[in-house]
Amino acid sequence: MYLLEYPEYIEKITERFAAAGEQAFIVGGCLRDSMLGKAPDDFDMATSALPEKTMEIFADRRLITNGLKHGTVTVIIDSHPVEITTFRVDGEYSDSRHPDKVRFTARIEDDLARRDFTVNAMAYNRRTGLVDPFGGREDLGKGILRAVGDPLLRFDEDALRIMRAFRFSAQLGFEIDASTLEGAEAKKAGLANIARERIGVEFVKLITAPAPDSALRKMSALGIMPYVCDGLTLNENILEKLAKMPPDPSARLGFLLSATDTAKARAILRELRLSTKISSGALAIIEGCRISIGNMSEAGRFALRFGSSACDAALASELLGISPNGATELVGKWQTLPHTLGDLTIGGADVIALGAAGKEIGEILSRLLDAVISAPEQNEREILISLAEKEIQKIRERERE
Ligand code: ATP
Ligand code: MG
Repeated sequence: MYLLEYPEYIEKITERFAAAGEQAFIVGGCLRDSMLGKAPDDFDMATSALPEKTMEIFADRRLITNGLKHGTVTVIIDSHPVEITTFRVDGEYSDSRHPDKVRFTARIEDDLARRDFTVNAMAYNRRTGLVDPFGGREDLGKGILRAVGDPLLRFDEDALRIMRAFRFSAQLGFEIDASTLEGAEAKKAGLANIARERIGVEFVKLITAPAPDSALRKMSALGIMPYVCDGLTLNENILEKLAKMPPDPSARLGFLLSATDTAKARAILRELRLSTKISSGALAIIEGCRISIGNMSEAGRFALRFGSSACDAALASELLGISPNGATELVGKWQTLPHTLGDLTIGGADVIALGAAGKEIGEILSRLLDAVISAPEQNEREILISLAEKEIQKIRERERE
């Protein structure tokens, strides 16, 4: 029998269900990732028990029930929240969006049949072993993403699965099986009926994945990109270097849109319904990557202008060959250097203790800052105290004249 590790609290849950005459399995992404040797952050489970019964079985635990209308009860066990969903078959789909109704089933196989890809359509517990009616384990071994059942039907039911196919292929480095790919192409128009923010979420997951370029190339070749980022100019140079940007939504998106004109890029970001934080970060990259940074004073101006986006923007500029090699390092270096009064190792109180008063305090501190900016190694307490003493002396001498 196929054996897999999972935490003890999961075993506690399956045992409790078994004692109540019900089945429970780990399912979906957590099982897929475990089988790939990656420890998942959290475990999702599926059970034969109806939600009311799950609540009864775990009446002694803290429960979260806001997913009840989809058949989900979240049980907090050993301080881990575990989503437990009753085996489900999805009802008719009217508009490639949401299943019209939720129907429960007593068979795990029926629940697995509604899932999107074979590698996501397995279930496991220690008693039963692996339940794998669609060959998910084999596909996982071969690195293949394959729709469960007829791809044309499955993408008709829910076109978001097209995005998910490319997203998983980028995250897992998997090939999409040929007929699944054909189905995605044939049913791409269904993406027009999917809520834009859901497309945005999948797209961000895709481009922040370790290998986003080949998925993007495929989507572009199959004419899917216009449904995702209408008007995006993808070029080979950008695709090749995309994975060199940190896996941050703004960094990757900004880089991807770096050859697109700013007005168009704004429209694309708006259409993806991203948070203001992600969009404004991406716009900073788009702007910054067009600026060349060749020396420390340019690095300083750049760092002040782009703030927390400065390093990523400098990297984009470097990767695109706008800035010379080393530009990112220069910006990073500048950021570690002192450049505001707050960065000095002494403050107003120290200057007052040395005898300065009123206007003089600010005057002296700004002289010290000038000195430190031109020679950062002077930013040591003792050195600055002695510099401050000298400045005070000078002021006093001027007063006497
Ligand atoms: P991730 O690691 O990104 O969370 P995941 O596989 O867990 O990946 P989820 O979106 O969390 O993805 O969904 C959990 C499971 O639910 C999937 O593994 C899949 O079995 C099923 N699923 C999710 N969305 C769909 C969908 N649109 N159509 C069919 N099945 C779906
Ligand atoms: Mg998940």
